[in-house]
Amino acid sequence: MTGWSGPPPLGVVVDLDDTLYPQAEYLASAAAAVGEAAGAAGLDGGAVHAALRRELATGSDAGGTIDRALLAVGVPAAELPGYVPALVATFTGHTPPRLVPYPGVEEALRALAAAAPLACLTDGNPVIQAAKLTATGLLPLLPVVVVTDALGGRGVRKPHPAGIEAVASALGVPAARLLVIGDRPGKDVAVAAAVGARAIRVRQGEYAAAPDSPSAWAVAGSFPAAADLALGVLGAAVTGGRGVTTRSGDAAHPRSSSPPSPPMRSGRADEPPPERGHRS
Ligand SMILES: [Mg+2]
Repeated sequence: MTGWSGPPPLGVVVDLDDTLYPQAEYLASAAAAVGEAAGAAGLDGGAVHAALRRELATGSDAGGTIDRALLAVGVPAAELPGYVPALVATFTGHTPPRLVPYPGVEEALRALAAAAPLACLTDGNPVIQAAKLTATGLLPLLPVVVVTDALGGRGVRKPHPAGIEAVASALGVPAARLLVIGDRPGKDVAVAAAVGARAIRVRQGEYAAAPDSPSAWAVAGSFPAAADLALGVLGAAVTGGRGVTTRSGDAAHPRSSSPPSPPMRSGRADEPPPERGHRS
């Protein structure tokens, strides 16, 4: 029924932005903070706020959004260096008070963590990603977090394989046996493909309308729906692996009687994993 062929996944990797919570919520909060700072610097804060929201709406990945917002409200180009660094610092240092996850995300993460080693793989400024995770309240549910930028800057962002390989190493499973859940085909689906793994696309957020390229193993309309699909194939893992009785008669350990994600959590207690890219 799942349409899964070949060996089952041994771990699950989830994206953060627009997968676990709506990134627009964070961007709106950060833009408001920049607007306030612009006002304090003597600019029209409301206008800067509005211009920045327009810039962010055209693509949150593009650099130079604050520069363009200031130009849009009439700040002369020659005066940008007097404003931009402090406003960029406001943006990157912004700590959103609360980011509300998509419905059902917390429960879905708990279910995934009980079924398999679980990690979060996300791109972006490590300080910002850490602030987002903290604001969602989901950090305690994610035993391993890898922020690609902490491994080697923007050049190793998804779909570069460095991040997923770091996840695989932290979880102790081959990268090809991970199942990725994320919203962006060009990042989340592609990074899985880069290591021979598979992905479930969650069609939501800024990239909801992006084409299915590369195509995912499955497409879901929400994170809980994606998690259900993942649990279905992880269930296959129980039947085909840990849950079977071996030829010598030793019963392997069924997942249902195992503590959640033992390899991860015990590993983390022993040594602070360098893969954990952010400071929190
Ligand atoms: Mg995303």
